[in-house]
Amino acid sequence: MASETLTHDAPPARSRRREDIPDRFKWNLIDIFESWDAWQVAYAQLEQGIARYATLKGTLAQGPDKLLDAFRLSEDLGQLAYRVWYFPSLQYDTDQRDNALNARRQQVQILFARMNQAESWFNPELLQIPLDTVRDWIRREPALQLYTFAIENLYRQQEHVLDDAGERLMSLSSRLASAPNDAYWALSTADAKFPDVTLSSGETVTVSYGQYRAILATRREQSDREKAFVAIHGTYQASLNTYASLYTGVCQRDWFQARARGYKTTLEAALHGDNIPTSVVENLIGTTRAGAAPLRRYHRLRRRVLNVPSYHVYDFSIPLVTFEKKYQYDDVLDWIVDAAAPLGPEYQARMRAGFSNRWIDVYENEGKRSGAYSAPVYGTHPYMLLNYTDTLDDVFTTAHEMGHSMHTILSHQSQPFIYSNYTIFVAEVPSTLSEALLLEYMLARSTDPAERIVLLQHAIDNITGTFYTQVLFADYELRAHRLAEEDKPITADILTDTYTQLLKEYYDDAVDLHPLSGITWARIPHFFNSPYYVYQYATCFASAARLAKEIMAGGDVARDARDRYLALLRAGGNDYPMEQLRKAGVDLSLPDTVLAVVDQLDDLVTRLERELDRR
Ligand SMILES: [Zn+2]
Repeated sequence: MASETLTHDAPPARSRRREDIPDRFKWNLIDIFESWDAWQVAYAQLEQGIARYATLKGTLAQGPDKLLDAFRLSEDLGQLAYRVWYFPSLQYDTDQRDNALNARRQQVQILFARMNQAESWFNPELLQIPLDTVRDWIRREPALQLYTFAIENLYRQQEHVLDDAGERLMSLSSRLASAPNDAYWALSTADAKFPDVTLSSGETVTVSYGQYRAILATRREQSDREKAFVAIHGTYQASLNTYASLYTGVCQRDWFQARARGYKTTLEAALHGDNIPTSVVENLIGTTRAGAAPLRRYHRLRRRVLNVPSYHVYDFSIPLVTFEKKYQYDDVLDWIVDAAAPLGPEYQARMRAGFSNRWIDVYENEGKRSGAYSAPVYGTHPYMLLNYTDTLDDVFTTAHEMGHSMHTILSHQSQPFIYSNYTIFVAEVPSTLSEALLLEYMLARSTDPAERIVLLQHAIDNITGTFYTQVLFADYELRAHRLAEEDKPITADILTDTYTQLLKEYYDDAVDLHPLSGITWARIPHFFNSPYYVYQYATCFASAARLAKEIMAGGDVARDARDRYLALLRAGGNDYPMEQLRKAGVDLSLPDTVLAVVDQLDDLVTRLERELDRR
């Protein structure tokens, strides 16, 4: 099934200049605004709306009509804001050297700050009104019913809001709260001195984090990988007591905030926003730790295939076979669409429309932002930024971002604006599932033994990296925070021992522990800038694994699972994420859901073993 666009001009080999890239590989932003003049008009409209919103302050107590006015105006502004923001912002990302675009983008950011301020009266003013009164209004004014979930959720969070004096103290303390993270960035980037190392090839490189990752993934000489590992961790080791003291600051801050707001633990405080029970994280950690056997099996297999005298964490990323196949973007689009067949023809048709209507900015060019994303431009359609370089990773990144975009399309189309946004807790489910479908599709068709090995390794590394490693991280965060909660000391030695202990519990003797591997905790920015965040990668992964298994099972099971899954994508943010997933048939508080990932890894390792034995 080739799409008609394929007969046009060929893709650029390695185009650096944007103007040399054919239009069909560049996104078409005319769908957002026809011109800068049209953008300017919308910008002015937004500005006026913000001023009007501020005038509603003090009116809510007058009754249901006023509350409805405020909700509706806020929704109008929100919708407009997406298009006003993304028009300059997406263009800027294709050339970040463009100062005029940057200025327009900043102009919108300044307007957004004013918008936040203009809307800040709403929550406290609504919360002044007793919930029973508001519930009565909802009964009397049917148009308000739409907002029930938003209102109930706001009052639910009220439980941990303090009185005026308390809130004032909390807001005064918020300036201090970011100090450990700010200092972490300064110490680990601006002030860090990464050393030069000379590799076996004779080249001398400075081991920044990017360089470290590249060496681990490409250098077949183990001694090169070890050198890079020692170089980067040595940099953290040199300031380890300072890192420990900053991390103590993080744990103590979280514990202060949790206690001040009346939570029993830091975990409870972190999960309350999305209404996630703490048992989800505890179940995730407990079940995964008990299910580490396939993880160890995989690393024992790697040790054997790589044939190294001792096997370390710096040997995790080197591919088991050399494989240089290039994947043409046009071919890949067809595969991604075909791979989505279990989700139905309508789903596939929408996907194909996205691929052929210039929603995607495909290739790299000078000044373009790195990485990949899907931008949910409400009122238009999602746009995707890629930096496609024909590698297998790029193939899966394309499927991943398309998964996000399909989620956006279905949720924007099915939900009113107020619930059109999905939470991070479910966001990575469709992207992961989209990759899983593509993997099975490619495995079923690939006849090249090396490619099959690389595909299986890709899938396995996804599980070890996105699931096991993130659970180990969550486990570490929980143990470290518990030290603070139990009034125990937190020092560099204690944190390093905690991390080393975790490595032993997860990997057992499958991996040899380098003396520096225990200080990895100092290198992970998430620990310092967003505690209790990474577990969501693992829960999304487990949810996607569970759903993918059912969707690919065939028969009635698959049809039923597909319907539940598409309903999840259409649900946007209309309920608490745990509820949404439960309706989709995924209960994250049960060990079974997590065990699905353990089983999946076990199966993939067996398949990899078989492929390797055949060689
Ligand atoms: Zn993603």
